[in-house]
Amino acid sequence: MTTMTLELSDFHWTMQLLDTLDAGLIVVDRQYNVCAWNSFMQHYSGINAESIMGQCLFERYPNLPEKWLRAKLESTGTLKTRGFSNWEDRPIIFEFKNFSPVSQGLLNMYQNMVITPLKSPQGEVTHFAIMLQDVSDIAKSKMHLKHSNEKLTELGRTDGLTGLFNRAYWESQFIDEFHSVQTTGRTSTLVMFDIDHFKQVNDTYGHAIGDNVIKTTATQLLKAARGSDICGRYGGEEFAVLLTDTTADQASYFAERLRKRVESLCLEFDGQSLQYTISLGITECRPYDNNHVDWLKRADKALYQSKELGRNATSIL
Ligand code: GH3
Ligand code: MG
Ligand code: MG
Repeated sequence: MTTMTLELSDFHWTMQLLDTLDAGLIVVDRQYNVCAWNSFMQHYSGINAESIMGQCLFERYPNLPEKWLRAKLESTGTLKTRGFSNWEDRPIIFEFKNFSPVSQGLLNMYQNMVITPLKSPQGEVTHFAIMLQDVSDIAKSKMHLKHSNEKLTELGRTDGLTGLFNRAYWESQFIDEFHSVQTTGRTSTLVMFDIDHFKQVNDTYGHAIGDNVIKTTATQLLKAARGSDICGRYGGEEFAVLLTDTTADQASYFAERLRKRVESLCLEFDGQSLQYTISLGITECRPYDNNHVDWLKRADKALYQSKELGRNATSIL
């Protein structure tokens, strides 16, 4: 009788300890019938321990990823070692709502899980303990950090005024494309263009309106380009576009389309109207180009030719 009382009080204490855990604890037998369901589980599932005790976990909780969880449990039973699930692989096992103020905006509770096989004195696995840890706060910070890093990377490659690639990033793409073209024999074309008499725009209308003209040019460029074209702001009022898998002749259609669009624009700034033009230079990558600079210089030369021709023109070299 004394032993019995001790055992009962031991059990009572154990249950109280399990209830103080800030984690979910479930014990199931080999048929997945629930043998323990602590306060954390009651609180988040809305199912109280008495009502689920002795019932099959998967029947009472049909939303569980049953096939995956069964396989996980069985393998811990076979291997007699603990099994783990990380939120980064599977964020949600039990669909619980998250109430933590730190995790505002993250509705579902992200979870880590540990399965411990429980052995009888004879060494056979008769039960599984499933421990569920709420890692929403960690998940939220980590996702926030990832988002910030992506944003930083994007900022590092973007030109602030136009949203096009900045020169450094565009150039890195250009170098990659040069090597790819030289090894694969594909055809790629570079188009460089520059706003005509831009100094006059600044001098006449002011620097702010000059900035707006640069932005408008970038918008027109993006409208004319395909998704695969790599568009960058090369310098102040100079732009570079890499048209992959495109010949110079094909690129000239793009260039002329862009030139005509810009030519036909009539911008209105504070009641003043403004028209402007661009000059373009086009050239394909050639097998005898020693490096990307050779390719770039030829595009620059073609652009210079357009300027010499009187501007608002496209030249191919
Ligand atoms: P061209 O027809 O030969 O190209 O003559 P241009 O006046 O356009 O060329 P130039 O190189 O003489 O002048 C370019 C001007 O662009 C000079 C510079 O002050 C201005 N500029 C460069 N970057 C910016 C910018 O970000 N915003 C503004 N508003 N102006 C800029
Ligand atoms: Mg210019
Ligand atoms: Mg210039």
